Amino acid sequence: MPSKTLEELVSLCKRRGFIFQSNDIYGGVKGLYDYGPMGIELKNNLKQTWWKSMIYERDDIEGIDANILTSPEVLKFSGHEDTFSDPLVDCKNCKNRWREDQLINNTCPNCNSKELTNPRPFNLMFKTSIGPVDDGSSFVYLRPETAQQIFINFKNVLDSTNRSLPFGIAQIGKAFRNEITPRNFIFRVREFEQMELEFFVEPGKDAEWHKYWIDSRYQWWIEQGISKERLELLEVEKDSLSHYSKRTVDIIYSFPHGKEELEGIANRSDFDLGSHTKNQKDFSICANINKNTKSTTKLAVQNLEKKSWFIPYVIEPSAGVDRGVLAILNEAYKEEKIDNNNSRIVLSLKPHLSPIKCAVIPLKRNNLELVNYAKNIKKSLQKIGLGRVALENSGNIGKSYRRHDEIGTPICITVDFETLENKTVTVRDRDTMKQQRLNPEELKKYYTKYFI
Ligand code: ATP
Repeated sequence: MPSKTLEELVSLCKRRGFIFQSNDIYGGVKGLYDYGPMGIELKNNLKQTWWKSMIYERDDIEGIDANILTSPEVLKFSGHEDTFSDPLVDCKNCKNRWREDQLINNTCPNCNSKELTNPRPFNLMFKTSIGPVDDGSSFVYLRPETAQQIFINFKNVLDSTNRSLPFGIAQIGKAFRNEITPRNFIFRVREFEQMELEFFVEPGKDAEWHKYWIDSRYQWWIEQGISKERLELLEVEKDSLSHYSKRTVDIIYSFPHGKEELEGIANRSDFDLGSHTKNQKDFSICANINKNTKSTTKLAVQNLEKKSWFIPYVIEPSAGVDRGVLAILNEAYKEEKIDNNNSRIVLSLKPHLSPIKCAVIPLKRNNLELVNYAKNIKKSLQKIGLGRVALENSGNIGKSYRRHDEIGTPICITVDFETLENKTVTVRDRDTMKQQRLNPEELKKYYTKYFI
C-alpha cells in the first residue's frame, strides 16, 4: 500500500533526515529542497543503479559529466531560447501568476476569480552573468536539461572512444527551470537532477530502438520497487509533442498527488545533431531545424559502404532523479500493525537503495567491550563496500529498531553479552522482524548474500 498523503511522506522525510525545505531558517524558497543524510544516500544509490545499468552492465554506452553553465548559442540552436516557455496568466484579483495549461476551467486556483490576463510566454531558463563585467552583455544559462551538453560533445566522445552506431552517451546532473508554480514537494522544483541517455542510431532503425528503450526503462523502474499497478505508458499526442520529437512515450506514475510523468522517452529524430552540426546543407536532415552558421564541428558519421555521411537519429530516455526518489519513497512507505496495540512505519526499500545497509547496535552504550566489538563488526562489513554501515550507539534497542525501520535499513545487528562469550550476534530482518543468531562466518555470508 502506498502512503496515503504527500504530507505523510514530507513529514517522514523531515523527521528522518531525507529531505528538507531549502533555506528553511530564512523562511524557505519555493521550489528548492535540500537532501539530508538519508536522502543523499538514497538518491546516490538510485543514480548509481542507473549508471551501472546504463554503463557497466552494457557495452554500448559511455558516460560524461559536462558543465552546468551553458553558452547561449547552444540553447539558441537547440530551440530552447525560442520555445522553452510556458504560457502564463496573471489573476487580476489576487495578482497570483499561473501556467495557463494547468488551470482548471480558466479559474484562479487561489481565489477562484475568472478575471485573468491574456496568456504571455515566459522563458523557463535561468541566466547568470559570466566574466568580470556584469553589464548583461556576457551571460550564460544554467542548463534546463543535461541533454544539450551530450549533443555538443558527440564528436569528442565518438573520436576518443572509437565507437560506431548504435551507441549512447549518458549523463547524470543538475538541471534548472524557473517553474512558475513549483509544487507537490520534490515533484516539480526549480533545481533538480536528471538521468539522461542519448542513444544514437541509424535513421530507419529509430522506431525499433525507441520501442526497445521504452520497454527497458519501464522494466528498470519495476526493478527499483515501483509496482506495475501504479505505472503506465502514455503515448504523447501528436499536437502535444515537443518541437524536436517524432514520437514520445511518457512513463507515468501514480504519485500521491496524482498521475504524472516520471520519465519521458523521446524519438528526437536527427533534430539535435542536425541543429548543432556545421555544414547542415551537406546532409539530408529530416527535422525542422534552425540554420546554424556558428558551429565549428561536423556532427555526422560515415556510412562506410556508401561512403556517405549522415546525421544519426537520437532516442532519449530522460528520467528525473527527484521524481524517482519521490515515487520510490511512496512505494516503500508502509504503516503496519505489529500486534493489537502497536504499529510501526517501515520503508520497505529494495536493499540496494537503502540509505544504510546495516546498523550495528551495542546493547549498552556505555559498555566499552560491547561498543568496541560493535565498532569492529561495523568496520569489517563496511570494508566489503556495499554501502553505508552505521554504528547505532543509542543504547536503546527498541528505539534503534524503530528508527532503522523508518529509514529502511534492511538489517540490524545487535551485540550483547552473549556475543562476548561466543562471538554470535542477533540479526534482525527489517521486513519480517525475525531474529536469528549468527557466528562471524555466517554473518559475513548472510550480509554479502543479502545485497548481491
Ligand atoms: P513536465 O511536463 O512534468 O513539466 P517535462 O516533459 O517538461 O515535464 P522533460 O523536459 O521531458 O520534462 O524532462 C525529463 C524529466 O525531468 C521529466 O520526466 C521529469 O522526471 C524531470 N523533470 C522535468 N522538470 C522537472 C521539475 N521541474 N522538477 C523535477 N523534475 C523535473
